[in-house]
Amino acid sequence: MNTKRTLIIGNWKMHCNVHESSLLVHRLQQHIHTHRDIEVVIAPTMLSLQPVSQEIDKRKLRLASQDAFAVDEGGQTGEVSFAMLRHLVQYGIIGHSSRRLMFGETLEMVREKVAAAVRNDITPVICVGETKQERQAGEAKQVVHDQLTTALANLTSHQVAEVVIAYEPIWAISTFDGETAKPDDMQDMLDYIREQLAALHGQKVARAVRVLYGGSVDDEDALAYLQLKGCDGVLVGAASLNYKKFASIAHQAHVMNIGGRSHAKFV
Ligand code: PEP
Repeated sequence: MNTKRTLIIGNWKMHCNVHESSLLVHRLQQHIHTHRDIEVVIAPTMLSLQPVSQEIDKRKLRLASQDAFAVDEGGQTGEVSFAMLRHLVQYGIIGHSSRRLMFGETLEMVREKVAAAVRNDITPVICVGETKQERQAGEAKQVVHDQLTTALANLTSHQVAEVVIAYEPIWAISTFDGETAKPDDMQDMLDYIREQLAALHGQKVARAVRVLYGGSVDDEDALAYLQLKGCDGVLVGAASLNYKKFASIAHQAHVMNIGGRSHAKFV
């Protein structure tokens, strides 16, 4: 029996000020139901994390940061550390394509951030994925391999078992004018990620890790991705700003888990 909870994460990116974040949380909580088989996580901007943490019903929602710095404390002006987010967030998105492409985040920086998150009891959600050019050049697996192995390099097998990997092909992300990936075409990379985890840390660890899909997922197609073999959830960007769509995705995941056939949209 699979005891892993399906993970539905909403990345709000640089949207919603503090007031708008409160409103969105309020609406979302009216539409989200508590289910033991799913875990719903939101990642508002850094500024909104503290106030939102006071407002959320922790049975319904958990919090993630969109990023944080690798050093716990120091002179890094403008940064916030994972140490400061300890007890505030349960998850930390790390190595998102926005960070890698817009802010020059390297493989090594991602590795240091992953170690910092783990050190501070925050579960890293490590984003991996190739650009369109890399896919067309047949380099997608090599890119994902390098991102994955570097990110996990400093962790023990026990720690790796707890991380979350989000496969997000960059060409499918809305921020980069993404095209919608055909769900079936994503199976190969999900399998590849699991194989790499097994090669590094064995089958047991590979099975324990939650692997998500992300890239323009919305309430119309989420189920098709969630039904892929070994897909343990979705990382949702733009559609997570719409509480009806995001709540619907969570609901559909639950219906799927309990073996329901209803694909009806939930509002
Ligand atoms: C993301 O930002 O992680 C993402 C998947 O975005 P979107 O769903 O908007 O493509």
